Amino acid sequence: MDVIVSHANTDFDALAAMLAARRLYPGAVIALSGSLNRNVREFYRLHADELQLVEPGRVDLDGIRRLVVVETVQPERLGEFERVARDPSVEVVVFDHHTGETPDWVKPENLVLSEDAALTTTLVGILAERELEPTPLEATVFALGIHEDTGSLGYPGVGRRDAEALAWCLRHGASQDMVAQYLRSPLAEEERALLDALASALETHSAGGLEVLVTAVAWPEYVDGVSNLAHKIVDLTDARALVCLVEMDGRVFCVVRTRVAELDAAAVAAALGGGGHAQAASAVHRGSLAEARELVLAALPGAARRGRTAGEIMSRPARFVEPDASVAHAMVLCQRHRQSGILVAEDERLVGLVARESLDQAIGHGLSHAPVTSVMSSDVATCAEDTPLPELTRLFRTSDSGRVAVMRGNKVVGVVARTDLLHALGEPLVEPEMPSGPDLRERLLALPGLEAVFEAAQAVGEGFEGVYLVGGAVRDLLMDEPSFDVDIAVEGDGIAFGRALARALGGRVVPHDKFGTAIVVYDGGRVDVATSRTEFYDYPGALPAVEQASIRQDLYRRDFTINALAVSLKGEDFGRLVDFFGGLRDLEAGVIRVLHNLSFIDDPTRLFRAIRYENRYGFRMDAHTLGLARACVEMELVGELSSARLRDELQALLSEREVGDSLRRLAELRLDHAVHPHLAAGEEAVALVVELDALRERLAPETPAWRLRLAALSRRLAPDELYDWFGRLKIRRRDADLIADAVTVAPRLRELAAATDEPAALRALAEPHDPDGVLFALAGAEEPARSRLERYFAELRAVQLEISGGDLAELGLTESPRVGAVLEEILRRKLNGELDGRAAELAAARELIGAP
Ligand code: ATP
Repeated sequence: MDVIVSHANTDFDALAAMLAARRLYPGAVIALSGSLNRNVREFYRLHADELQLVEPGRVDLDGIRRLVVVETVQPERLGEFERVARDPSVEVVVFDHHTGETPDWVKPENLVLSEDAALTTTLVGILAERELEPTPLEATVFALGIHEDTGSLGYPGVGRRDAEALAWCLRHGASQDMVAQYLRSPLAEEERALLDALASALETHSAGGLEVLVTAVAWPEYVDGVSNLAHKIVDLTDARALVCLVEMDGRVFCVVRTRVAELDAAAVAAALGGGGHAQAASAVHRGSLAEARELVLAALPGAARRGRTAGEIMSRPARFVEPDASVAHAMVLCQRHRQSGILVAEDERLVGLVARESLDQAIGHGLSHAPVTSVMSSDVATCAEDTPLPELTRLFRTSDSGRVAVMRGNKVVGVVARTDLLHALGEPLVEPEMPSGPDLRERLLALPGLEAVFEAAQAVGEGFEGVYLVGGAVRDLLMDEPSFDVDIAVEGDGIAFGRALARALGGRVVPHDKFGTAIVVYDGGRVDVATSRTEFYDYPGALPAVEQASIRQDLYRRDFTINALAVSLKGEDFGRLVDFFGGLRDLEAGVIRVLHNLSFIDDPTRLFRAIRYENRYGFRMDAHTLGLARACVEMELVGELSSARLRDELQALLSEREVGDSLRRLAELRLDHAVHPHLAAGEEAVALVVELDALRERLAPETPAWRLRLAALSRRLAPDELYDWFGRLKIRRRDADLIADAVTVAPRLRELAAATDEPAALRALAEPHDPDGVLFALAGAEEPARSRLERYFAELRAVQLEISGGDLAELGLTESPRVGAVLEEILRRKLNGELDGRAAELAAARELIGAP
């Protein structure tokens, strides 16, 4: 039995994570390990039937084969399941987020840690990638989990992924009414009383200049949810940092919250033996309230972090143009580095600043060649290196130039752009700088047959933020391999670009509005155009207006670094390689590397892709990627991969020229068994495939290689298993029939061929199973069956009569079943060497019909 558990005092993030994990482990049971938080309990009471959770004490602990733990790395928080978690004979898998701890009770490869503010966000990301649909009730719980752990997206450290995950929940039917009801469930009477007491006991302390509110209260009875009360106090007081201490039930419960980077909440909680994240932490102290308060106050100075300065957060060296540089040159730099403006300086001395908008206008007026000084502003905000961030923030508020030059004396040493400041203030960086790679212009233009496409793309790309060649074509270009697909990603409106490209090429466009994609078909080929995609992309309705993503996010969603390269096709940037993730380095070193740790879990078809590239290029997964691949299989997260996507990847893997290494790797990673328990890709399969490949090439080259190879892998599946699995894979019925036939009929064909050497009988035997079944029978066949089946291909298969039904009609036979029977008999005689040539066939026909 597989069981999913989380910590006692289960909150919505934990409940949501358990429900999401059940989607990944469909047969698993969710067991409660202890009490539920009050709002979760109320929710659960109403929805127990739909949620199907198992109450504490109801699980046969000895029957557990796998334990999936979510939202904690501390087994002592699992109640009765602690014993199971520590049992080495149980397969334990842990999902958690934001934890500094590496637990020693779970194998490192079975630990999935994410950086998301809510663990639900991580799991929703996986469900979205796998296109698993939640019920509206599940979506509601997911939304509650995200709201709760992100303070409705308000806490520091909350990211775009949390917001997108929440939007995904709403699109999948999360009820806003229920979210509102359970998120802000009214406080119970005893909670209100404790809240009043805590609010009245607030004292102000200071940590490194930061105001910290501390409140300490002794309470006669245990009250649930001190952390909830701490939130309320933060809301009421607008405090930037708060420490709440409540002595009850013989212990002191401590909750620390901060909304600024200057105080590390975890460091404060650590003083009482607890922990958590920088923004929220907690501890339980077994001592007196006074003692706890003293310990906390003593820890505050050490937990304070010195405020940062302009010198620490600036970008350096400051990028600038010389005063005599042209408007066009300044624009190229702004585009390349995604800057909204650029400094103008001479010998590091500041002259002014020019905004991208002004450059745009100047170009619009035909002033591309004018010097930047003609559109420059000389009023630039400046500051010294030791300017503290609050002061810097003020400078940004009062100047509208979007950047502040950092000066040492009268020299510019760096620049703080708005994004630098936002990043320093804890907001996610809007966009990392575009990395500059080698110039591939010449190589692009040398690609046979594509010159016209690239010239057209260059010509029509001007109005779009970015236009890139992406995917396998870039990889192949760098490897000097021929490539067939031209995929273009557009930052902006991909369909509009597709239309413009089609016009320029004199071709036509097939737009797919739902997905923001377009196919451009022109005389000479086709080009696929896509709008850059972001995460949680299964909301096509939002494209292209809302979810236009930058090329970096688009590339980050891809499978491996070597496939996450792009080449700019736009204007002066044409030919520049864009390499955010070290793809070029990996290509040169022959390494297959995922872009992030959840990659295989998000999309297990990437396991097959990794193996395919290893096999095709002789590359190797790096140790980390290989570890993640093994872990994904080991944790049984390859899952119900019974989709058309698996079929496509399996088919692609089996269609490569050689597949021996792929098969070995499939077996080594036990991916064959993960996909179907009776699929077998080991050495026996390799040998069989080698033989089948040779036979196919020699005797029936028109047969698709993948089909025979899939038959080889499936040789141990019973026919009903085969049809069941192929049905789920959506393999075409005809292919499924041929494979099933090959696998089941081959041994019998061998026997029958061994029993007769009459040519007509051999042909009658083989023809219904041509070609897959006969090739399969030939592989491993012994004499005399071998040479007889070979003879079928070499000779008997092609034998045809020289007369037809028309000839029989002329002889007076028109009755249809007899026509067939007569022709069959003549063919039998011909195969057996009794007839030679048309005259002999006609004579036999006459005799059989009884014609004169
Ligand atoms: P080839 O056709 O030679 O196998 P390719 O790179 O063109 O290589 P495609 O399957 O056509 O392979 O995919 C195009 C691109 O889409 C890939 O280069 C990769 O960037 C991305 N891609 C494809 N499948 C996935 C996936 N499962 N996960 C992430 N990215 C993917």
